[in-house]
Amino acid sequence: MQRIHDHRSRLTALPGLLRGLTAALAIGLGATATGALAQNSFIVAQPVSESLEPARVHAAQNSEVAKRLKELEARTGRKPNVLIMLVDDMGWGDPGAFGGGIAIGAPTPHIDRMASSGLKLTSTYAQPTCTPTRAALMTGRLPARTGLTRQTLTGERVLVNPWESEKTAAGLLSEAGYMTALSGKWHLGETEGALPHQVGYDEYLGILSVVSEFTQGLDPRRYPELTLNPERMAALHKVSLPAVTAGEKGEKLKVVTKLDSLEKVAEIDQQFAEFSEDFIHRAAQAKKPFYLVHSFSRVHNDNFPAKAFEGKSPARTPYKDAVAEVDDIVGRLLKKLQDEGIADNTLVFFTSDNGANEDAWPDAGFHPWRGGKGTTWEGGVRVPGIAYWPGTIEAGRESDGLFDLMDLFNTSLTLGGVKVPGDRYIDGVDQTSFLLADNGQSNREAVFMYSERNFTALRWDEFKVHFKVFQTPIPGSNIDESMLTGTGMSPWVYNLYLDPKEMKSVGHRTFEWGLPNILALVNRHMASYRKYPMKELGLAKPVQ
Ligand code: CA
Repeated sequence: MQRIHDHRSRLTALPGLLRGLTAALAIGLGATATGALAQNSFIVAQPVSESLEPARVHAAQNSEVAKRLKELEARTGRKPNVLIMLVDDMGWGDPGAFGGGIAIGAPTPHIDRMASSGLKLTSTYAQPTCTPTRAALMTGRLPARTGLTRQTLTGERVLVNPWESEKTAAGLLSEAGYMTALSGKWHLGETEGALPHQVGYDEYLGILSVVSEFTQGLDPRRYPELTLNPERMAALHKVSLPAVTAGEKGEKLKVVTKLDSLEKVAEIDQQFAEFSEDFIHRAAQAKKPFYLVHSFSRVHNDNFPAKAFEGKSPARTPYKDAVAEVDDIVGRLLKKLQDEGIADNTLVFFTSDNGANEDAWPDAGFHPWRGGKGTTWEGGVRVPGIAYWPGTIEAGRESDGLFDLMDLFNTSLTLGGVKVPGDRYIDGVDQTSFLLADNGQSNREAVFMYSERNFTALRWDEFKVHFKVFQTPIPGSNIDESMLTGTGMSPWVYNLYLDPKEMKSVGHRTFEWGLPNILALVNRHMASYRKYPMKELGLAKPVQ
């Protein structure tokens, strides 16, 4: 009796936070995650299917948008086009519309016009590096689930081809009568069966890896250990194909341009732009809807902008000139849609695949956040986002509603009238009504953030809650010299409206009310892996 009494006394003496955590964990363990959330009035999104990420439902905006799309289809006679412009490593703050532009030596008039004529999304999230973001965007699934948790390195071959068991938006839309193409960077596998035209894209022209894979073999100032050593160069050429390549569904991969000089590397984004312009023209001529991912090689290091852009930015540095080149290409592609008379039937989405790469500074972008590429601080994952669709998205809209780039999977399928697959877990959320309704609200409850297979943090409303954090003893060495460590008793919590740089955790002090809700959300999220587990491709490091 005495012991029970003591036990109760200890419980009541626990600090408030611990009582909250204990209660939340008890809910998570003692009941189904769904049951816990049904009692949680802070969480809006409720499950509709065990294989679909729960979404916030906004019935009025859903019906407004469904009606608008039906009218548009009746007028144009076909489904809308989707053009995704994906810049590599551009910082949230690089475009003028997001605070950079002319103020930091690289005006972006075309991107800014897109933002002011469409919807500027201030809370768009990518994964922390290239490959995971591209995988998520194309499959609607978290990288931990597809196994594409990091890039394959020079010459590295994965044990399992992830694409044997994945479906891309391009593939599903192609089956529904869309013309689909990838223009530019792929970075999602270079082996047979993993090439873009083998996993859903009708056409591809671009690079299979990343621009630094080519510059490392060509630039003796930056890579003398490699380029000035003939044996190493011979070994490199056995495992790496420095070329712009192309392919069509059912056909073999072709070499278009051998990238055997930095001058040729400098012109690749011009090649991608020409291919995209031609593809848009052909789709318009064929009177068929299209899905085009225009994937820049810029502004990933090492930047060698096209000859026509050298010294063209006020800053006159390779990075800023590359931003100017990207902006010019954005203008060209928007003009092409206009010239072909299909701008009013095309959703254009502009974004970047991860935050600015501080490790590569000064060949790197700008953002006002903590951390950078490779981390799940805001600097690694928060990217510029613009949705543009003249006549359908009201000009001048701005929203801080949550948007995860993997939502483009669901949203593109909805626009194409294609059902989201039900045989796998889809982490993306249909954001069609958020993007298109005049006062659209985000349908996403939270953004779950990962470093490779580690769940690290989530964003929920204006709050960011970390369970694991990146520590960087040398500022800016986010990829090359950081540690991922667990947090202590309380998760680290930041109110991003008060503390956008994630400087001072309020931990439990002002967010005790929120922590049980966050834990319940994380419990529900983790429970989804029981039936839909993580995939291992052999990308784990030998020592973890
Ligand atoms: Ca990237």
